[in-house]
Amino acid sequence: MRQYPKPLERLISELKKLPGVGLKTAQRLAFHIMKMPEEETERLARAIAEVKKSLTYCSICGNITETDPCEICSDPERDHSTICVVEEPDDLWALERTNRYNGVYHVLMGALSPMDGITPDKLRIRELLERVNNEDVKEVIIATNHTTEGEATAMFIANLLGKLNIKVTRIAYGIPMGGDLEYIDEVTLAKALEGRREI
Ligand SMILES: [Zn+2]
Repeated sequence: MRQYPKPLERLISELKKLPGVGLKTAQRLAFHIMKMPEEETERLARAIAEVKKSLTYCSICGNITETDPCEICSDPERDHSTICVVEEPDDLWALERTNRYNGVYHVLMGALSPMDGITPDKLRIRELLERVNNEDVKEVIIATNHTTEGEATAMFIANLLGKLNIKVTRIAYGIPMGGDLEYIDEVTLAKALEGRREI
């Protein structure tokens, strides 16, 4: 089979590594980039490089941030005795957009999925236990996604925390199984947060 010119092949193979991008999409994107004016492609390349250079993960909660600790963790107005556990930074931002939560967060960086090699040690679960042990935490709200992996993760964490003297709650999903936090509208998400139940 005839190959594309090398630089184009390279771009396609890099784009293909992105989540949700298959070969067809990668090819379409690559040809689109080829058509873009040079200053636009430079802006895109710069934005990609800068996001890595200027942003980091908060060493406390795992949020994406320009400063470490992040703005939420260093905000004295927030309730540091309530920790909301989410899978990914974008779930944290979905909850922030509801404007109904004043506690702090803990990002796990994924959900348990032993079949894909995602075991508890691959997630930020140890860091969560350390926070609960070392800080004055009264409640942990588990807001992992309403998926098989999210539920398994919620149960696993609830079992670990059950041994400690803190309240563990799970947000109430009035939504079908398979729901990803980041795609739920703000009103539904605020309701899910308010309707959380102890587990
Ligand atoms: Zn933080």
